[in-house]
Amino acid sequence: MIVDQIWTANAYRNFNYLIACAETGEALAVDPLDHEKCLAAAEAKGWKITQILNTHEHRDHTGGNHAMVAATGAKVLAHRNAKDKIPGMDRGLRAGEVIKIGKTVELECLDTPGHTMAHICLLAHGDRPALFCGDTLFNAGAGNCHNGGHPVELYSTFASQLAKLPEETLIYPGHDYIARNLAFTLDREPDNAKAQAMLPEMEKQDAAKALVTTLALEREINTFFRLTSRSVIRRLREAFPELPDEPDAKTVFLRLRDLRNKW
Ligand SMILES: [Zn+2]
Ligand SMILES: [Zn+2]
Repeated sequence: MIVDQIWTANAYRNFNYLIACAETGEALAVDPLDHEKCLAAAEAKGWKITQILNTHEHRDHTGGNHAMVAATGAKVLAHRNAKDKIPGMDRGLRAGEVIKIGKTVELECLDTPGHTMAHICLLAHGDRPALFCGDTLFNAGAGNCHNGGHPVELYSTFASQLAKLPEETLIYPGHDYIARNLAFTLDREPDNAKAQAMLPEMEKQDAAKALVTTLALEREINTFFRLTSRSVIRRLREAFPELPDEPDAKTVFLRLRDLRNKW
């Protein structure tokens, strides 16, 4: 499996992806909003885009579908419940389904509600597991729930699915928000040494050559995976004095999500 992370350099800071079979050159485009950049990248590598996967129905993820289909004839795949929201969907996906690309790539669909209620993450098994997580998980952060989502579902997706993936899983999110998210982590956990060390570097990183994190690194720098950290809880109780000494993980997650909305 070959992954090309494409930086759109747009105001929303979207990442698009091409995932290709090294043997046949067939490729799947994930959320190809910047269809021109995606097509140019495929052409430069000699790949043929045969499928489009929309992680969810938001326009900054689906807005390139029409032009991409017109140029390639690619099939459009998305969560089965996004059918009424994504025009021209060819295949509705459910949890556990497998998407094949060429001869060598198989991607497992995870049903990951929270950011919206029709959100798919793709899990590549292979030499090294990789997760294409749309707007569910970001580097050092989590998706918001303002436009059709629900924070309780997002917590459940994190706890019951994402947190259980192998530590070495590579994380490929739908946007570059790492610097802002690290700053939030430090607001919530000022003594997080790893986040302190990374923030200055990430503030000046070129998103066209973005750092690809792992789940292990996310556990260190992503406050939404640090729900039992003593300092996260101590700081949270300053904001919410009614919280008990040892609040449960779900309560911590929901309060953090709430604070991030206003931060
Ligand atoms: Zn979204
Ligand atoms: Zn988005």
